[in-house]
Amino acid sequence: MLNSKTVNQLRALRRHHKIRLNKKRINYYTRGFYEKNRVDVEHQTLKFVDTPKPCSCWMCGNPRKHWKEETRQELISKTIFYEQARSFQ
Ligand SMILES: [Zn+2]
Repeated sequence: MLNSKTVNQLRALRRHHKIRLNKKRINYYTRGFYEKNRVDVEHQTLKFVDTPKPCSCWMCGNPRKHWKEETRQELISKTIFYEQARSFQ
């Protein structure tokens, strides 16, 4: 069971990482947009903490979904598997 000190430490750590990621990702997709339109920048960019890549169009999305192709990770793992299989022969 977590005691209250541990819970507060976990909460502080989660808040720390949320602020850290928000500062890091403040210019994702929005370079200059919010400053120009005078919107509260830090509030608007909070969504990029949880979703760093919110777009799933045909250019950015999963190739298996849009093109019925294998993803990059699948191609890499398949290549490694076949190279290891060849080395055993
Ligand atoms: Zn996109």
